[in-house]
Amino acid sequence: MRRKLVVGNWKMNGNRLTNTELLAGVEEAGPYTADVAVCAPFPYLSEVALSLQAKRIGWGAQDCSAHESGAYTGEVSAEMLAEFGCRFVIVGHSERRAYHAESDQLVADKAKIALKHNLTPIVCVGETLAEREANQTDAIVKRQMSAVIHTLGHCISQIVVAYEPVWAIGTGLTATPEQAQAVHALLRVQLHAATPKSDQMQILYGGSVKPDNAAALFSQPDIDGGLIGGASLKAADFVAICRAAR
Ligand code: PEP
Repeated sequence: MRRKLVVGNWKMNGNRLTNTELLAGVEEAGPYTADVAVCAPFPYLSEVALSLQAKRIGWGAQDCSAHESGAYTGEVSAEMLAEFGCRFVIVGHSERRAYHAESDQLVADKAKIALKHNLTPIVCVGETLAEREANQTDAIVKRQMSAVIHTLGHCISQIVVAYEPVWAIGTGLTATPEQAQAVHALLRVQLHAATPKSDQMQILYGGSVKPDNAAALFSQPDIDGGLIGGASLKAADFVAICRAAR
């Protein structure tokens, strides 16, 4: 039986005051049946770590460098994130693939260095609207996943996967539970060919998850929780989504 996981992706939002209020609201409403974590912007990680230390909510970052250390101005290493107690790091979010031209291989390299530093990479895959309309969804997500499988080898079982259709992110459009389940099942079959532990791997859905659609999505057999953007910024909404994961 896989545990459910709900992760908030704050993106480039928040400030010290709103972060404190948000974390207090989420924390006070717990404990949750599911595992819960938030991925905060880099500058806030030390305060998030202080707020959540000894609490049941984990934390992480939204990206890391594929390099170990050195002359990479503006980048943040996986080792640094580990020093701030991060448990997770999101890699390959569609916003990074689109706005920072991150390739499948770069995403895979980031996942690899995250694992090296004992972080769990949350590897995002997903198709654009044009790709879905051209019936390329399966081919796109398989290609994105395949780069990570080849780079990580047997360590692939240590990652979390997030299926995030690009057309559903921040748009208010959500994949139906059936649409999402179909892609999750496809990904699990692909992972099954790579590791005997595929049944234990968590595959999250992300894309306009809200309190009113979370339970239906999370009840699908291969959907093991969610990666939540906009709704993770409002304590009441995030709490309701976390409670829907059981
Ligand atoms: C995300 O950014 O990972 C995401 C799923 O965003 P939203 O929930 O706002 O669609």
